[in-house]
Amino acid sequence: MSQPEQRENRSRQQQSTEALAAAMDRSGLSRRDFLKIAGAAGLASATGVQAAPAQAAVSTRARIVVLGGGAAGLTMAARLRALLDGARITVVEPSEIHDYQPGWTLVAAGVYSVGEVQRRNERYIPRGVDWVRSAVAAIDPESQRVETVDGDHLDYDFLVVATGLHLDFEAIDGLRREDIGRPGLTSIYASAEAARDAYEQVRTFGERGGVARFTIPGTPIKCAGAPIKATFIAESLLQSAGQRGDAEFHYHTGADRLFSVARFDTMVRDLYAERDIAVNEDGFLAAVDIDARQATFRGTNGNEETVDYDYLHVTPPMRAHGFVREAGLAVEDGALADGGWLAVDDRTLQHTRYPNIFGAGDVVATAIGKTASTVRSHGAVMPDNLVDVLQDREPSREFDGYTSCPLITEVGKAALVEFDYSLQEVPTFGFIDQGEPSWMWWRLKVHMIKPLYFNMLRGRYLR
Ligand SMILES: Cc1cc2nc3c(=O)[nH]c(=O)nc-3n(C[C@H](O)[C@H](O)[C@H](O)COP(=O)(O)OP(=O)(O)OC[C@H]3O[C@@H](n4cnc5c(N)ncnc54)[C@H](O)[C@@H]3O)c2cc1C
Repeated sequence: MSQPEQRENRSRQQQSTEALAAAMDRSGLSRRDFLKIAGAAGLASATGVQAAPAQAAVSTRARIVVLGGGAAGLTMAARLRALLDGARITVVEPSEIHDYQPGWTLVAAGVYSVGEVQRRNERYIPRGVDWVRSAVAAIDPESQRVETVDGDHLDYDFLVVATGLHLDFEAIDGLRREDIGRPGLTSIYASAEAARDAYEQVRTFGERGGVARFTIPGTPIKCAGAPIKATFIAESLLQSAGQRGDAEFHYHTGADRLFSVARFDTMVRDLYAERDIAVNEDGFLAAVDIDARQATFRGTNGNEETVDYDYLHVTPPMRAHGFVREAGLAVEDGALADGGWLAVDDRTLQHTRYPNIFGAGDVVATAIGKTASTVRSHGAVMPDNLVDVLQDREPSREFDGYTSCPLITEVGKAALVEFDYSLQEVPTFGFIDQGEPSWMWWRLKVHMIKPLYFNMLRGRYLR
């Protein structure tokens, strides 16, 4: 980097820190506290909290259609807008409201309100980008055309698929998505309102006591730590209300590990044992009888066991939306074939069969990496690779599998988990033990990650 570039970068970092500090002020954390955390953590330089370096925009008339305007769609659109001059970029997104999903765990903890995790999408559609307020129904990759559910057609030169994933509650016998919220039946995955309901139902459950069960499915899921967080949060709420004595806690899984990274698998098991949360490795949730309040778990050997519950937290099976597979764009073999995930090269995020199609966010068929933090990395890789291909070059950037989340271990404490394809930790703050649950990572989660996230949607602070 040349000296003027270094000066510009330093000045940007300073502005970033100031912007974050101002956001902290607005969110109620004192500037002193912020500086304490930032100082301890070396935030500005160490987090990669920096604007992408300025570079000349590439001139083009290419038509780029971005499917989905969630975390990934908005971030990719903003970055492409910055990289390209004259491109006709269109985002297809049906929802007027953008949900900050990483905040749903904090809604379930009673820390955020529903209003604090929702913003209007129109604030984040980049200037100069068209927004089609509809849902994609079909993609024809041969004729390079997308059809919306309203019957409109959009032709593209490049396509970015960023439609997230489908929550498949219906794959569990006896359950429909709209059942979430019925007495005793919760899921922080369903919506911000459902996360609020989970909080309220935990309070009711605490008053009465009984058996609480938390499930995880056998499919890849977004934020794989969230079912564990939901368990710790509920247990912690009962502890602090002095109601823990009348409640039994069970965590159900059919997987060998509670967490893919060995160290955190051990940590979660130890904390579960310490807090008397039983780990039932009896299988995945297969059926629910909502009226009888019974849940059936099916083991990998096919054996089934039905148990009673008073409070059930469901993490549903997840897969890509059906149009990905129908368009012939899904991965066809290997461990991820069942979910119909978008077949991309797991480093470049370019489609394995159609070079003018890219993927970002939860929809892609990568072994790990269904988090908003991952989107920060996708944002630093995928748009640049698309621009490379647009200029008849090979994709030059590589995604390393970066996955991260503050793993909440109780209301007020979290561990900061970061890893990549190697399943080894890649700590941002190497001089502190991020894996040790601390108030500091909780504060980072409550006060800092949200402004980072909403800046990411504008193409800033990519990793
Ligand atoms: C409870 C919970 C806790 C989480 N905690 C964390 C955390 O602590 N840290 C973290 O980094 N991540 C966390 N995540 C994960 C994170 O929210 C997702 O990984 C991230 O939102 C993925 O971005 P995405 O754009 O792929 O999907 P989304 O943000 O879900 O966006 C998908 C978009 O596609 C749109 N769409 C759907 N179908 C269509 C269609 N047919 N046509 C057009 N558009 C369509 C949707 O309306 C949506 O706007 C959490 C998620 C949940 C649910």
